[in-house]
Amino acid sequence: MKQLEGKNVLITGGSTGIGRATAIRFADEGANVAINYHSSETEAEITLEETQDACSIIREKGCREMLVQGNVANEEDVKRIFREILTAWGRLDVLINNAGIQTANPTHEMAMDAYDRVLAVNLRGAFLCAREAIRHFLDRGGGGIILNNTSVHETIPKPQYAPYAASKAGLGALSRTLALEYAGKGIRVNTVAPGAIITPINREWTDDPEKKAVVEGHIPMGRGGKPEEIAAVFAFLASDEAAYITGQTIYVDGGLTLYPDFRTPWSSGS
Ligand code: NAD
Repeated sequence: MKQLEGKNVLITGGSTGIGRATAIRFADEGANVAINYHSSETEAEITLEETQDACSIIREKGCREMLVQGNVANEEDVKRIFREILTAWGRLDVLINNAGIQTANPTHEMAMDAYDRVLAVNLRGAFLCAREAIRHFLDRGGGGIILNNTSVHETIPKPQYAPYAASKAGLGALSRTLALEYAGKGIRVNTVAPGAIITPINREWTDDPEKKAVVEGHIPMGRGGKPEEIAAVFAFLASDEAAYITGQTIYVDGGLTLYPDFRTPWSSGS
C-alpha cells in the first residue's frame, strides 16, 4: 500500500542513519522527499557521500527528491530551506525534525559552547523548522504534519549527556505544546523516541563488540534497533492511519523504557 503517495516531506539531517532510512521508507511509500543535510567542516565528506547514496536509492524507486543544504540551528538557513522546497514543489505536507547531535562530558567539565551547540541543533533547530512549517500550513490551509525525533532520553536521565537529555525532554514538551496549540487547525504533531539504534551517532559502541554487548545487555529485547524500525513508525504517524493521533510520543526502544532492572524481581515477597 502506498500510504504517502504524492506527499511532500522534509527530513532534517536526512543524509545518514535514521534520517536516511526514513527518506528511503517515505520514497518507498510514494512520497517526494527533501533531504536536508549539513556539511560541517568535520563531516562534510561523509555527509555528502551518504547523501548521494540515499538519493540514488530513492531515484531507483522513481519519485522526486531534492537535497537542501542548511544548518537547522540557523534561522536564515531554515528560511532558505523552506523557500527552496516551496519554490520547487509549491507545498510541504510533512516535516520530520530528525537532525540531532550529542556530546559526552561530566557536567562539571562541560564547556558552555558544547552545551549550547547541542541545544541549538536539537531544540532550537526543531523549533525553527516547526515554526516555518506551521506558517506554511496556516498560509495554505488544510493542516499538516510535524514529527519529531526525540529519544528514550526524553524521559530517561542520561548522566554526562545533560544537554542531550535536556534538549530531548524539551523537544517532547515542544511537540505536545504545538500539538495542542494547532490541533484545531488540522496540524498533527507527534514524536518518535528511539532507544539504542545502530547508526553513526553511536559509532562509539556499535563499532566495538565489547561495548555493543554491554549496551545490548541493557535492552530487554537483547539487540540494538535498526534505523528502518524507526522509519516505519514515522511512516505510520505521517499516514492517514494515524489521523486521530496528536501530541503523543511513541517509544521504539526494544523495551528500554520498561525499567529493565526489574526483569528479575528484587524481593521474593511472601
Ligand atoms: P546520525 O548522526 O546519523 O544523524 C544525525 C544527522 O543530523 C546527521 O545527518 C547530521 O549531519 C545531522 N545534523 C547534525 N547537525 C545538523 C545541523 N546543524 N543541521 C542539519 N543537520 C544536522 O545519527 P542518528 O542516530 O540517525 O540520529 C538521528 C536522530 O535520532 C537524532 O536526533 C538523534 O538524537 C536521534 N536518536 C538516535 C538514537 C540512536 O540510538 N541512534 C536514539 C535516540 C534518538
